[in-house]
Amino acid sequence: MLFIVRRGVSPSPLLEKLRGSSASYRVLNIYGRVIIVAWPDHLVEHISDDVVELKVKPRRPFQLASNEWKLERTIVTVEGVEIGGKRVVVGAGPCAVESEEELVALARALKRAGASLLRGGAFKPRTSPYSFQGLGLMGLKALRRASEESGLPVITEAVDEESLSYVSQYADMVQIGARSMQCFSLLRKAARCGKPVLLKRGFGCTVEEWLLAAEYILLEGNGNVVLCERGIRTFERVTRFTLDVCGLVAAKHMTHLPVGADPSHPSGRREFVEALAMASLAAGADMLLIEVHNDPQRALSDSEQQLAVEEFENMMVRLKALAEAIGRHI
Ligand code: PEP
Ligand code: MN
Repeated sequence: MLFIVRRGVSPSPLLEKLRGSSASYRVLNIYGRVIIVAWPDHLVEHISDDVVELKVKPRRPFQLASNEWKLERTIVTVEGVEIGGKRVVVGAGPCAVESEEELVALARALKRAGASLLRGGAFKPRTSPYSFQGLGLMGLKALRRASEESGLPVITEAVDEESLSYVSQYADMVQIGARSMQCFSLLRKAARCGKPVLLKRGFGCTVEEWLLAAEYILLEGNGNVVLCERGIRTFERVTRFTLDVCGLVAAKHMTHLPVGADPSHPSGRREFVEALAMASLAAGADMLLIEVHNDPQRALSDSEQQLAVEEFENMMVRLKALAEAIGRHI
């Protein structure tokens, strides 16, 4: 149950009633409002107070993430870059950071081509322990320098609590990857680091599970969450994953949070990336995350799906035209 407290009023009288009810509750300060979440419903159904402007019982299990009580779409701001508005935000960069000099040159080129955020992994979640695991702290330092040189804010992944302690110091937005989407202790800790969170969808997770993972972050008082569809596992093997455009559309209908898409990881092949990016944009994606490398053939991870800079530049021209056609811009 959600209690939206009147502006400028102390919630104390309501909290007193909740304390006497043996229900659990949290007081949150998000989206410019004081919101009290209390559960289970049957213990708080009868509770109300004059300090409450609106009492809502969302039908969906993800209460804070649901748009049943918040009709206006949330805009998440990452160092001045707004995600979730009319402008579609493109984040681009290598799968993994491999060298500082190359990253600086790449970041400048991406900025010129119209990217607004720099993505790149320093701590990589790899299927095989023998694969390149990322440069770790050195990678984070390279990302920071590339950000300073290009003016692009940085998104990078935290794979566990230890890497989060570094990532939260160096990143402008913390990425929680597909493989960690249901690592609930990591979600809570990432929420509490205070940075905006990019939450990738687990490839074996339903849209509802994805939104419930976002709920963990919101329930810690961090309302700055951007969801990112990145393909789910199906029987299909021609592509690496199946980009779930249906899931993207469904999520946008159910949540006020921005929803983006990563067309690189489901494609697994650079020839497919542009078409999937176009499909995501047409379906309403608020953000696109694209893997781009200085020299894709030489990349230490995801070599087949990373675009060369020139391919990215050409794709951006066509993405911009599509954005205009659907009443948005990049
Ligand atoms: C990534 O974006 O670098 C990544 C590993 O993605 P995912 O978690 O979606 O596989
Ligand atoms: Mn990758």
